Amino acid sequence: MSGASSRAVVTGGAGFIGSHICRALLSRGWQVVVLDNLLTGRIDNIEELMADPAFTFEHHDVTNYLDVEGPVDAVLHLASPASPQDYLEHPIKTLKVGSLGTHNALGLAKAKGARFLLASTSEVYGDPEVHPQPESYWGNVNPVGPRGVYDEAKRFSEAMTLAYHRTHGLEARIVRIFNTYGPRLRPADGRVVSNFLVQAMDAKPITIYGDGSQTRSFCYVDDEVRGILALLDSDVVGPVNIGNPREFTILELAEAVLLATGSSSEIVHEALPVDDPTRRRPDISLAERVLGWSPEIDLATGLARTYEWYREERKRA
Ligand code: NAD
Ligand code: UDP
Repeated sequence: MSGASSRAVVTGGAGFIGSHICRALLSRGWQVVVLDNLLTGRIDNIEELMADPAFTFEHHDVTNYLDVEGPVDAVLHLASPASPQDYLEHPIKTLKVGSLGTHNALGLAKAKGARFLLASTSEVYGDPEVHPQPESYWGNVNPVGPRGVYDEAKRFSEAMTLAYHRTHGLEARIVRIFNTYGPRLRPADGRVVSNFLVQAMDAKPITIYGDGSQTRSFCYVDDEVRGILALLDSDVVGPVNIGNPREFTILELAEAVLLATGSSSEIVHEALPVDDPTRRRPDISLAERVLGWSPEIDLATGLARTYEWYREERKRA
């Protein structure tokens, strides 16, 4: 799907990753229609795109029927709260966008004969007992815990996507995204990279939940978007993990943020959230083999670029 003059619908296109995807598609010469209800996204993320005649924004809640005029070649379904802070604040909206929203987005793709890409997540692996996590691992999710609203919504959306693929022959792609960070990650969205950067910049204490020995593997947004679009262009249904396999403890991340910002904030410990996964790292051998994709940007470089954007953002504000 790398040719010019294609037309994509991006649900959640005013969000962090969605706004980067829109820019990447526009720079290919595509037309882009964003459907977003701004629950966790921001017009600021797409403001400078509004002047581009190839770009359209529609304020729309995708849990309601989707009506897009004209041809559509690809539907990229990213709409969903993604930060634990956000999905714990909006548990029912999260379940609805993962279920009803995914159903509507699939219905749009089917009606238009478009390729459908689902933004799924490493959270489908829950608190994993297999490490690192290959796509063949079925996961260890607590369906009735607070995080279940997000994990089960995404697991349902994967099942629904494959049902449309098997039943209707819909061209489907499923990406499992691992912790992604970079410019336009909402400073107040509560995720660990945004929290630590803002705390370091304000000379406030860095809040480590628990003892900081839990791990995550952080992928810079440019690498993530390149991987997502490589999957969209491929003939691979997936699911495919796209993430950076370099694993860090949260304590190591805090130290890396202090180094990147030159801050002397102290580190404090707060309660560990319920069901917080103890470790997470993608096995990316499938993406390497079938997409020829691997990440290129290391944590120090990615944090420096993100910090630069946070500083510019403050000047703008
Ligand atoms: P984000 O919160 O910045 O973006 C999500 C977007 O979806 C927002 O613009 C929000 O307003 C929109 N949205 C939510 N509910 C909607 C609805 N009912 N109708 C229309 N729009 C709606 O989050 P993000 O980090 O950009 O994540 C994008 C996608 O990637 C999500 O599906 C998320 O689950 C997935 N993902 C992200 C990460 C990550 O590390 N960033 C990791 C795994 C999966
Ligand atoms: N975390 C933390 N301090 C914060 C925010 C998050 O120690 O201020 C921890 C959180 O408990 C988790 C990890 O950082 O272990 C990643 O959290 P995030 O909310 O970014 O995403 P998750 O991977 O849990 O979805």
